[in-house]
Amino acid sequence: MSSREITKLVKQGQLSAVEVISSVLERITQVEGRIHAFISIMKGEALKRAQEIDKKLKENKQLGRLAGVPIAIKDNMCTAGSRTTCGSHILENYIPPYNATVVDRLLMEDAIIIGKTNMDEFAMGTTTENSYFGPTRNPWDLKKVPGGSSGGSTAAVSAGEAVLSLGSDTGGSVRCPASYCSVVGLKPTYGFVSRYGLIAYADSLEQIGPIAKDVYDCALLFSVINGYDPKDSTSVRKDKTEYISGLEESVEGIRIGVFSEFFGKGVDVDVSDVVQKSLKRLESLGASLVDISLLNLSYSLPTYYIIAMSEASSNLARYDGVRYGLCSDDEVENWKVFYSDTRQKGFGAEVRRRIILGTYALSAGYFNEYYLKALQLRTLIKRGFEKAFESCDVIASPTMPVLPFDIGEKIDDPLSLYLCDIHTVPANLTGMPALSIPCGFSDGLPVGLQLTAPLFREDVLFKLGQALEKSSGIPILSPNL
Ligand code: GLN
Repeated sequence: MSSREITKLVKQGQLSAVEVISSVLERITQVEGRIHAFISIMKGEALKRAQEIDKKLKENKQLGRLAGVPIAIKDNMCTAGSRTTCGSHILENYIPPYNATVVDRLLMEDAIIIGKTNMDEFAMGTTTENSYFGPTRNPWDLKKVPGGSSGGSTAAVSAGEAVLSLGSDTGGSVRCPASYCSVVGLKPTYGFVSRYGLIAYADSLEQIGPIAKDVYDCALLFSVINGYDPKDSTSVRKDKTEYISGLEESVEGIRIGVFSEFFGKGVDVDVSDVVQKSLKRLESLGASLVDISLLNLSYSLPTYYIIAMSEASSNLARYDGVRYGLCSDDEVENWKVFYSDTRQKGFGAEVRRRIILGTYALSAGYFNEYYLKALQLRTLIKRGFEKAFESCDVIASPTMPVLPFDIGEKIDDPLSLYLCDIHTVPANLTGMPALSIPCGFSDGLPVGLQLTAPLFREDVLFKLGQALEKSSGIPILSPNL
């Protein structure tokens, strides 16, 4: 069932929240052994919350917009009293004393948190293989990666272990796994969703994003979590915005920008074919396709990785073994040894690689050559997009250049993994919103269409997504588990 069906039945008293949660917990028991979408399953808490919601209904109290809906949360968002690991050994036993703002907003609407999902350690990765807790598998083909770093959140929704989920997207981590697991995922406009309580990887790039099986549910979840939060200094002073009412509007006249390089070298022909067919479908519904060019786009990947690693090296300096997290208990002679000992034990290889590269890019001798250059390029890339948006309303591309690949296939070659982010990182550099929508299959593996819009134009993305979903004849499929 979709979240709107669940809420409707719960509110009418035809289905109890306890029944919903019990049924999802049963599904988790059936498939989780094969998928490994979760780091923690919050069985007791979820059932208790469900009882509270059923009680509220009996007492004739008003129920929220997500009443009884089981939602999975990426394990880098703080949940008061419940372990939040960030996929890392260093935070393996960390129990936050407070909720992330998004978590509070979900609870206010009577959603039920069912568990914390698996992720690449500190959200650094494209496959969810970098988790301290082991990889998640793709529900469509258990040999394949689910994408990352929010692979647990998208696999959980795709496998029916949750109805909705939240991920975080620093360079594509909501959209990449959404594409690989055939679910809908949004990277919102920077500053539109509070990051308070999101464990930081690269602050200037990341946003929390909604994940759902269909566009309606994704828009609903986004409507619940967006809006100004005084606790986040980068939060934009913009009122909570509603995205449901405009969903059914016609897409007539919307101009979809197509940049040929997004479909050229390095992109699988099969992926490109499926995506282009979906664009033709949108054209038949009244949208128009226009050729565009994007200046400086070829620099987006190196620019992203320099900025992301620099910010990461600074953010992760706080894990010193003293204030919280893992603490080395070896007898050592001084503070420096203790600090590096803790970090050597607590962080995995990819996180250490990025801390070292980021520290290098920020060091006195190289700051101008790398970090500053990257910031300048970021501005030029943003201008390139602003220019392109003078002649179109959204920009289309495949979300991922290649189909989901085997677990283990690329893990020893970090550079080839970084290259997979080629289409997703521009939205993070520019702050613009981008949506990944399932648009078909190739060899039985999901393909996603990515649409990017100017700042705060999530409405156009949802409208096009909804039109495509309705007309495509791709029923909302579930993997055969
Ligand atoms: N794959 C990208 C990275 O490793 C994006 C990660 C993310 O969005 N959190 O940095």
